[in-house]
Amino acid sequence: MPRLSEVIAELDALWPPDRAEQWDAVGTVCGDPDATVERVLFAVDPVQETVDEAVALGAQLLVTHHPLYLRGTTTVAAGTFKGRVVHTLIRQGVALHVAHTNADTADPGVSDALAAALGLRVVRPLVPDPQDPAGRRGLGRVCELDAPTSLRHFAARAAHRLPATAQGVRLAGDPDAPVRTVAVSGGSGDSLFAEARAAGVDAFLTADLRHHPASEATQHSPLGLVDAAHWATEWPWCEQAAAQLDEISDRHGWGLRVHVSAAVTDPWSAHFASQARPVPPPPATATNPPGAPN
Ligand SMILES: [Zn+2]
Repeated sequence: MPRLSEVIAELDALWPPDRAEQWDAVGTVCGDPDATVERVLFAVDPVQETVDEAVALGAQLLVTHHPLYLRGTTTVAAGTFKGRVVHTLIRQGVALHVAHTNADTADPGVSDALAAALGLRVVRPLVPDPQDPAGRRGLGRVCELDAPTSLRHFAARAAHRLPATAQGVRLAGDPDAPVRTVAVSGGSGDSLFAEARAAGVDAFLTADLRHHPASEATQHSPLGLVDAAHWATEWPWCEQAAAQLDEISDRHGWGLRVHVSAAVTDPWSAHFASQARPVPPPPATATNPPGAPN
């Protein structure tokens, strides 16, 4: 069985920490480098639910996409929810390792996993990493569909293929507009509208779209927007990453048991389609043509 330090060295080779954004906090949060690892759990969020899942599985390593502490802290007291996570991890002998923006831009990265889940063919990164001569690393992916479809059907495909969440999938733009090429970006992608337009794609699938950026984007061009749940756009990475670690384990003869979290940790837990009556038309008297009976 490998030591934690040996497993982490392989994870760092997949997602080098120095390729993370400057503001990010990636790498090992807690764990003894000399501890042995037999089981590993991949999850999107380092929350109590996934930590409890790791403990119940008997895992010695939890790898998450999102950081536990993005900024510094002065306490890990168990009275805070993050402190309780730290206490549970250390007490139960579970290490926590984070691969965030270094996994976003990797080859394969978070958006490759998203594209694969949607059955798309990746053409190139949406924002290429200038440090990568092969032109495969970077943020988001530009993709092609096997056959043209409509924005409505593309959004329905996303709702069908991504893991189920309360939010589901929304679209903005003409539902009947044709879609042949799309850009995808796992997580919050509303800073990439200009890049998606420049790529000339028909639609952009991402998460966390807000009123003003989405409204302006739909006014600016016919680019269709598809908004999925943040967690659902990043969860496919867990399966991709687990398969990568399985392959590494086989190569080294480590015999690791690698799992993917089944917990839906998207914070939104219910969704209700609007039931109110539509906005009423203006009063008839205001639009009566001349000569019409009052
Ligand atoms: Zn995210």
